[in-house]
Amino acid sequence: MKILNTLSRQGFSPKGLFLFIAFLSLTITSQAQSDEDIEEIREIYDNVLTSSSCYDWLHFLCKRIGGRIAGSPEGTAAERYTAQMLDSIGADTVWMQEVEVNYWRRGSVAKAKVVNSELLGNVDLSTVALGFSGRTPKMGLTAEVIKVWDLNALEKIPASEIQGKIVFFDKGMDPTKTNTFHAYGAAVGQRTAGPRSAAEKGAIATLTRSMTLKQDDIPHSGVTVFQDQTPIPALALGMQSANLLSELLDSEKGIKINIQADCEHMGKQKAHNVIAEIKGSTYPNEVIVVGGHLDSWDIGEGAHDDGAGCVQAMEVLHVFRRMGIRPKRTIRCVLFANEENGMFGATTYAAYAKNSKEKHIAAIESDAGGHTPRGFRMDALKEISKSAFKQAQKWREILAPYGLYYLDAGGSAADISKLKSQGTVLFGYRPDSQRYFDYHHAETDVFENVHKRELELGAAGMAALIYLIDKYGFTFE
Ligand SMILES: [Zn+2]
Repeated sequence: MKILNTLSRQGFSPKGLFLFIAFLSLTITSQAQSDEDIEEIREIYDNVLTSSSCYDWLHFLCKRIGGRIAGSPEGTAAERYTAQMLDSIGADTVWMQEVEVNYWRRGSVAKAKVVNSELLGNVDLSTVALGFSGRTPKMGLTAEVIKVWDLNALEKIPASEIQGKIVFFDKGMDPTKTNTFHAYGAAVGQRTAGPRSAAEKGAIATLTRSMTLKQDDIPHSGVTVFQDQTPIPALALGMQSANLLSELLDSEKGIKINIQADCEHMGKQKAHNVIAEIKGSTYPNEVIVVGGHLDSWDIGEGAHDDGAGCVQAMEVLHVFRRMGIRPKRTIRCVLFANEENGMFGATTYAAYAKNSKEKHIAAIESDAGGHTPRGFRMDALKEISKSAFKQAQKWREILAPYGLYYLDAGGSAADISKLKSQGTVLFGYRPDSQRYFDYHHAETDVFENVHKRELELGAAGMAALIYLIDKYGFTFE
């Protein structure tokens, strides 16, 4: 009553009073909710940091199975292993979704050798074939090298100057871009489309500077896309070898290189998306996907790319089970079949989602390495993105104390991006980017380069975000 008297004296109308009380109770409720959320998320972190299996799973994927190109025997072994593990943690359903992939085999030889330098004589360059590279005759092929900066520069050169030559793309990642993914995005066109464009102008092979900022000489592979063009040998050079070749081409005329590669295109092959879920208790047909891609390049162990993302996604289901969290919505772990060489896993899953009776409300993918967590990038259809972003900003406040302070609009991750047109809100998990391209698609992408706590912190962060999405859902204005 005292409050009422004070309020009346201050000129509150009964209607105003009602609104004030409603506001007060809303504030109290939402405070209680956020206290409860803070507590629950602390428990998720405690649980993952003391009881998770994700590091052990990654060890098996890397050391017992190793690099796993989609369609390869290693790819099949990885599907079986992860399905078994998902079953063992008590997922309600585990199933394999068939995906047809183009299988390409690297072979055992990749060489690039300068054969006529006046200054240095013969020089072996550190090299590796790009995914879907063509092969050379057994003794290799030898031709003059022409250096071009990038795709735009190539376009301006007449075909007569390219014909019969080996094209060397010199543009690498720009060190001034503090986020290395931006540097990668600005340079990777030379790798994905360079060989095709060079072949169209009559080049007989290409060499591309590796997509890395590390000053070593380890070459980095990755896909190149020929579309209808007949594949020519397309190799990547390690950073130091690319520097040396670039300088040689500046100082000497008529530098020739011998290239050898015995890659093979194996045609269509069957692979699978590995899928497991915890059924939603209230809205079973509303789905939250959490995933990574199970395939990797074959020269390393696919540890950061993307074994880390797969085991983090698996860990989300695992921690929900260990803590006895019963989600309202269905939480579905999807390990996509082939992000690296065709995206057929993502395309197959998106087609399935579209034809199902389910509504995919959100999808979270970890495919940026297993390093220290930084946050998420968000993406959604224009008509819902503003309001989804606003809601997620509230969750960011709860997650920020765990290092997940970053939530930016635009971009998410490759596999889940195929769900965007269905109105799904997408989140790409973003760890620190500085060391990712030291290992990406290289022989150094091995288990030893993934840090246990960093990996687990990422898994916990993804579980925490999913906990919040599941609890509150999205309401679009
Ligand atoms: Zn990846």
